[in-house]
Amino acid sequence: MASLNVLVAVCLVYVALLFIVAFAADRKASRGHRSAWLRSPLIYTLSLSIYCTAWTFYGAVGYAARSGLEFITIYLGPTLVMIGWWWGLRKLVRIGRSQRVTSIADLISARYGKSNTLAICVTILAVIGVTPYIALQLQSITLSFATFAEADPARQLYETTTVFWVAAGLAVFAILFGTRNLNANERHHGVVTAVALEAVVKLVALLAVGIFVVWGLSDGIGETMARVDASQIGQWQMQGDRWATITFLSAAAFVCLPRMFQVMVVENEDERHLRVAAWAFPLYLLLMSLFVVPIAAIGLELLPVGANPDLFVLTIPLSQGRDGLAMLSFLGGFSSATSMVIVAAMALSTMVSNHIVMPIWLRMQGHGASVSGDVRNVVLLARRVSIAVIMALGYFYYRLAGQDAALASIGLISFAGIAQILPALVGGLFWRGATRTGALAGLSLGFLIWLYTMLLPALGGGLLPDAVLTDGLFGFSWLRPQALFGIEGLDPIVHAVMWSMALNAAAFCTVSLATFPNPLERLQGAQFVNVFDHSAGPRGWTGLVAQSEDLMVMSQRILGAGEAQDFFQSEAIRQGSHGGLPEPTPAFLERLERELSGSVGAAAAHAMVGQIAGGSSVSVEDLLAVADETAQMLEYSGQLEVQSKELSRTAKKLRETNEKLTQISQQKDAFLSQVSHELRTPMTSIRAFSEILRDTEGGSEEDTVRHASIIHDEALRLTRLLNDLLDLSVLESGQVSLNMTVGSLGEVLDHAVSTALAGSDKPLNVIRQPSTEVVRISSDLDRLSQVFINLIANAQKYCDAENPEISIVASTRYGRLRIDFLDNGSGIPRASQQLIFEKFSRVSPEKAGGAGLGLAICREIMLRLGGDVRYLSGHPGGAFRVSLPLAPDLVT
Ligand code: ADP
Repeated sequence: MASLNVLVAVCLVYVALLFIVAFAADRKASRGHRSAWLRSPLIYTLSLSIYCTAWTFYGAVGYAARSGLEFITIYLGPTLVMIGWWWGLRKLVRIGRSQRVTSIADLISARYGKSNTLAICVTILAVIGVTPYIALQLQSITLSFATFAEADPARQLYETTTVFWVAAGLAVFAILFGTRNLNANERHHGVVTAVALEAVVKLVALLAVGIFVVWGLSDGIGETMARVDASQIGQWQMQGDRWATITFLSAAAFVCLPRMFQVMVVENEDERHLRVAAWAFPLYLLLMSLFVVPIAAIGLELLPVGANPDLFVLTIPLSQGRDGLAMLSFLGGFSSATSMVIVAAMALSTMVSNHIVMPIWLRMQGHGASVSGDVRNVVLLARRVSIAVIMALGYFYYRLAGQDAALASIGLISFAGIAQILPALVGGLFWRGATRTGALAGLSLGFLIWLYTMLLPALGGGLLPDAVLTDGLFGFSWLRPQALFGIEGLDPIVHAVMWSMALNAAAFCTVSLATFPNPLERLQGAQFVNVFDHSAGPRGWTGLVAQSEDLMVMSQRILGAGEAQDFFQSEAIRQGSHGGLPEPTPAFLERLERELSGSVGAAAAHAMVGQIAGGSSVSVEDLLAVADETAQMLEYSGQLEVQSKELSRTAKKLRETNEKLTQISQQKDAFLSQVSHELRTPMTSIRAFSEILRDTEGGSEEDTVRHASIIHDEALRLTRLLNDLLDLSVLESGQVSLNMTVGSLGEVLDHAVSTALAGSDKPLNVIRQPSTEVVRISSDLDRLSQVFINLIANAQKYCDAENPEISIVASTRYGRLRIDFLDNGSGIPRASQQLIFEKFSRVSPEKAGGAGLGLAICREIMLRLGGDVRYLSGHPGGAFRVSLPLAPDLVT
């Protein structure tokens, strides 16, 4: 029987061996000449095996003894991911490299616009999810020690002391190899190599125990299978929902667990290693699970009832007196636990120090802290302290809950917690519309539901009062942690995973759709989603000219070609280089950034210019994609602006037309009432006098003649009015046909004067200047004469001078013929000068000689003839000016 001392000694030797391996690998890496196999996909594949912790090494057998083949789901998830989703992993690795990602929190934060809030959330979630898992590893090491101690009566084991020393030892190892220096790419060759060695040890150990069981304790495969059938494992029934849920959980955890992310993405040296790992790692898992069922079945059969099936891997060889094998098995379990704890502590410490400790420290330092040696030391110190704190957390968790049987199920609970990162991670990789707020919403909701439906009920210990468990939160039965929204009868794990993941994903999607990503998020989103399109490797922007050209291309897309060229040219001239592109000096970059920020906002402009000129790993294609989008948006908004301007123009036109129509309709009404009024006056007098004629008998002849002549005059007036109205309506409708002829102005005036004066016996002296009238005109002479007649007749009618006279003066100016009709009356008051051209307008009743249509007709006629008639306001008497276009060849 191996004594505990031997066991401790073997352990120490083993740890020393790991130290040497890690140390040697680190040294070789730092000197840059590592042997080929150290750089081969083999080490990478083996390092992935930290997925198999003590929970899988010992626990799988226990799991199989209790729940039959269900333990396979734990291996099935990662296998499906490796085989079916290796392109997704490749994307993750590519992004990890191009963005210099240091942890899963860093990745999520980088994707969503470098948000530290998100990083803190992921870190806290990871710490809460992983701490119990670390405690589980400590428990398994302690249990395995205890198993040996039981077999060694010479020594009494103090459990708590063992755990303490184990935790302290692991912390020292993690600190030594995980935080030896600050590497830009955060790779830890030493740790990875040690982990690979441990992977071999645990596989060999489990295979050895398996082979011993199948061929040592049983008589080969056939008999073993028969014994399996006979055991309680043979009666196992598959539960479809649990099977699917746990497979999903293990797949999600495989991608999201901080330690898995550490070895798979951060420690990855070559993307091509994934290709080998895609088949080699599932093979490793297959070998790890090969003998689980036989060990469980034989263990159940051989060992006394009540023996802990979680320790069968250890207790079977011990019970058979195979100390060597037991020792190997112990080392296998020890390897599983230590490798997990070390890598997990390293990964978590990176997250805690980068996203929680450092931001606080930097804030405390104010803005003066620059990245110098002291900051690096602070980072290292923060990491070391974080590792110690995380290990201490694991230790205390074990002390608090270690004796509890609930610890065994903590693996799945841990998985479910970590799986809450999945929607934000996968969404961030494949969906550009995913936003920071969406990720935050999904993550927090999923985390809370997981806490409430899974972690708190499982922890027990009064953390969640019994009343809440049975009656729901605040007495709402639909808020019972294990029957949310009234859905009962589900397996607790299925229930919790279903609700937390479904609501997490739903919140993530809806909030993402409802919010708009900021420029940095959009930029990062484009880079993450399109990482394969352009990141064949990090591109270096060494040539300054290349930078200027790229800046130019980007600026053109944002500012428009013309403006960008002008800006660059003026900058080049400012720098004294004529004809070339400006050098990307800080001053120039600053001005360019200001120029761009007008279009895309300050943050995006800063990021864009910074990324091109700063030579960081953001690819130009990404910037251009974002710039293109911005340009399209600007163009679109430009189009919208044009359209809205056009719309408002049309609306204005419509309004004007509408006003005009209303006016016209009002005018029409006024006109009709005027006309009926004008018609009624002569009609009334005709009727009255004709009645008098009819009814008066024996009246004097003189009276009869007078009455008859009044009737005649009124009838004439009526005819004139009707003629005028008809004439006006023909002119206004535009249907008038003009009879254009050529004649002399003098002749037209002669005709007009004689016609105007003929109708009345009122004296009017007409003064003319025949010399000015020797002009030949081409027009509708009859219509023109009608205008002249009207003006002369008006002077005759309305000139109130004692000796009324009118002078008619013609002149030509600016290619137009002007004929002024000036009388010596009192003229027309200023207020009425415009009005008199309107229909039925008369200055005052005493001056009214007609219906007020004369000047309206004149205006219409002159409009048709291409000229106009207006009142000359400066003249003391009545003054009208008729002007006409004058064909140049007709001037005589
Ligand atoms: P009507 O056909 O009734 O003469 P007009 O349109 O020709 O009407 O003239 C409108 C008004 O302008 C007249 O009622 C008159 O009061 C005024 N008016 C026109 N010509 C003169 C003038 N030479 N001197 C003073 N008032 C005039």
